Amino acid sequence: MSNMLNEIEKLPDDFIEVKADQLLELLGRPTLIHLQGENPRPLFICTLLHGNETTGFYAVQKILKKYQQQKLPRSLSIFIGNVEAAAVNLRRLDRQADFNRIWPGTEEDYLAEAHMMKQVVEIMSEKNVFASIDIHNNTGLNPHYGCINVLDKKYLALAGLFSNTVVYFTSPKGVQSAAFARICPSVTLECGQSGQMDGVSHAAGFLDMVLNMDDFSVDVPEHINLYHTVARVYVPEKYSFGFSDDATINFYPDIEMYNFVELGSGKLFASIEPESQAFLQVLDDNDKDVSDEYFSVVNNQIVLAKTVMPSMLTVNTAAIRQDCLCYLMEKISIPDQRL
Ligand SMILES: [Zn+2]
Repeated sequence: MSNMLNEIEKLPDDFIEVKADQLLELLGRPTLIHLQGENPRPLFICTLLHGNETTGFYAVQKILKKYQQQKLPRSLSIFIGNVEAAAVNLRRLDRQADFNRIWPGTEEDYLAEAHMMKQVVEIMSEKNVFASIDIHNNTGLNPHYGCINVLDKKYLALAGLFSNTVVYFTSPKGVQSAAFARICPSVTLECGQSGQMDGVSHAAGFLDMVLNMDDFSVDVPEHINLYHTVARVYVPEKYSFGFSDDATINFYPDIEMYNFVELGSGKLFASIEPESQAFLQVLDDNDKDVSDEYFSVVNNQIVLAKTVMPSMLTVNTAAIRQDCLCYLMEKISIPDQRL
């Protein structure tokens, strides 16, 4: 039994009014809140796994305000993740693990935080969870999109209710949506940048829709554009980088414009300091180094070596160091053999 987790059956006073950075004071630690609704099978909503991604929390507040005077159509279990990081508006504290890399399936299953996440999955599994929604933001210019970890009709339908853009990924390991995908339809929502009201409204509208659904016997929307994440791109730690001309790796300043755009081979990503031999490291789904397959260096410029579509590209240097530069995707057709 993890003693990190706070499990409660009633909303704390002020919960629907506080700001995300006040949750540490209000809750003290990661908290799982169970609320009773008409249908006893709970919808699971996960927020603030990354402390500076507040859209999910504010969307939850919006829903709870709506149902303040009426019974929830379905029971709701809300997990409020990294309240310590939220208090200082960071993805995570330096001493902490990334809260979205330590769910069952993680390689870091020895961590205390990983035990807590395992406990959350077990609790929700016992409650026969209806569906799982984990809500995130990113730092670059990206559309709102849903991510799934299983190519199954119910999962596609769930993600397709949020956005026409759906990303299928199996790496990195230890993410929340992949852990829950083993027990119920599960999606990660990417709601654009934190602090934008349209992301909060969009996420809240989606949560309300799912709360009111009886089952997932809906058709997969035909308009879905489905992408498969095939690799992640990192800046090797030994190189300085930036977006002008004074670092070892100098990225194309408008690189965020590349997100969700199909780019051909030869597309410029960065220029490098001559003779530095700097490069971008690319790891595939199995963490195999495939750098040479995706990038080449020509005349001190790092260019794409094949056609891909990036996502999550950002000019936020801290995000690049803490997470990665971007993901690379390929468009895939919606598989029908399992539908
Ligand atoms: Zn996140």
